[in-house]
Amino acid sequence: MLAITMTDLYPEPSWNFVFGQASLRERVGVYSFARYDSAFYGEARDRDYETLLLRRSCKVLAHETGHMFGLAHCIYFNCLMNGSNHLAESDRRPLHLCPVCPAQTAMEYRLRCGRALPRARTRHPRRGFRR
Ligand SMILES: [Zn+2]
Ligand SMILES: [Zn+2]
Repeated sequence: MLAITMTDLYPEPSWNFVFGQASLRERVGVYSFARYDSAFYGEARDRDYETLLLRRSCKVLAHETGHMFGLAHCIYFNCLMNGSNHLAESDRRPLHLCPVCPAQTAMEYRLRCGRALPRARTRHPRRGFRR
């Protein structure tokens, strides 16, 4: 389950805030749009602020979903799963995974389920025309 809110999030009073948080074990996550909107900081919104808000939100949603699938923060490459402590770091993070993270997902699945990830079934559209 993944929850979305416009309320600013912080897990405990000693933290300033989090963009989102997810549990690797319970497979639940929550994220907030609040700090992705310049109006939150009392600043004027740019003309294309909705595009930026959507991009940032997609990024954190995909990042938190990665945690829900057992991925930890990535330290290998420039990757969707890189940790971030502020908005500039979050903006630098790409919208895609590095080559290491999908392999870690497969390994995590094997550990949890005791078997390899099911292979994707590929369709062979030309096969229907062959006799
Ligand atoms: Zn994270
Ligand atoms: Zn990675």
